[in-house]
Amino acid sequence: MRGMFLLIAMSALFGAGCSVISVIPPQAVTADDPEPRTIKLSEMCAAMGWSYESGPGAYNYTASGPKGDRIVFTIGKDIVSINSTKWRQERDTVELRGRDLLLPESTHNFVAKHFGMHHLVRNGSKAGSVDYTMDPIVPDTASKTENPQTPKAAISSELRGLHICIDPGHGGKDMGGEAFGVQEKTIALNVSLMLRDLCEQSGAKVTMTRTTDVYPTLDDRVALANGCGCHLFISVHANIAPNSDQVSGFEAFYNGNSAEGQRFARNLIAAYAAHSNAPNRGAKKDPRGLRVLEKTKMTAVLFELGFLSNEAEGKRLSQKSNQQAMAKALWDGIVVEWSKKASVSR
Ligand SMILES: [Zn+2]
Repeated sequence: MRGMFLLIAMSALFGAGCSVISVIPPQAVTADDPEPRTIKLSEMCAAMGWSYESGPGAYNYTASGPKGDRIVFTIGKDIVSINSTKWRQERDTVELRGRDLLLPESTHNFVAKHFGMHHLVRNGSKAGSVDYTMDPIVPDTASKTENPQTPKAAISSELRGLHICIDPGHGGKDMGGEAFGVQEKTIALNVSLMLRDLCEQSGAKVTMTRTTDVYPTLDDRVALANGCGCHLFISVHANIAPNSDQVSGFEAFYNGNSAEGQRFARNLIAAYAAHSNAPNRGAKKDPRGLRVLEKTKMTAVLFELGFLSNEAEGKRLSQKSNQQAMAKALWDGIVVEWSKKASVSR
């Protein structure tokens, strides 16, 4: 009887599951900072306003959010389940400490970011003792009274059904290009946040690789995109021409092996050209093997908004009103892409 029950339970498990396990990028370990860090589950839950308890299995701990979200950790294992999607921690496992768990720092950061909560920031790097602060993830350009967790309510339906991952290039320690006091990472973030709002307001689900001035690695970005189930991926950048202040214009790169990527790049370029007087440098095969185009599994484009090394163009790129217009242009391209994608796949 008991064997029968187990069999049924197991087949139900496999029938429902066959879930793909994605990888949580491991935390960086550098010469200055050699030790993988940990943080307690109790601290994570306190900061997120969540609760936790042991179970459902003997080796599990479950953290529960106020909206019904659930994270299941397994002691000694490198697999974390977030709302039934499994994630693998590449290097470190979750350890039991009394009635609490020690979570690898990268697991904590991944989970907190997943729910748009906060990012763990280390204070100092004293050997043996590490203090953390919980820095909230708040979009730079959004008004501070808005809850960053709440997507913008849809007011139209052009992008209904679409899940898009928006990747503001660079961030944190990585400024990207810089010229005439304008930094690529800031322009990429501002335009991306505006684009996010436009997408959400037209019915899309949006996953951001960052919403503040932080630096996810390229592998972080790829893992997030591949794990989130998005249909489209757009990485937003601005250009630098090393030896010329004359070069200007916009361009889009796609993986040369991806016909969908080419179509998405062309749709973005066409829409952007309709909004911009800058030179149209076109949709191009990526000649460099860019990680976010090579390793992402969905239709992906890296878009270069313009050249910071051209002073006039850099100035335009850094103006809020023009950033809004650029975001709108990208949104137009996404609408065309989504209507074509939907007509092919449905
Ligand atoms: Zn860039």
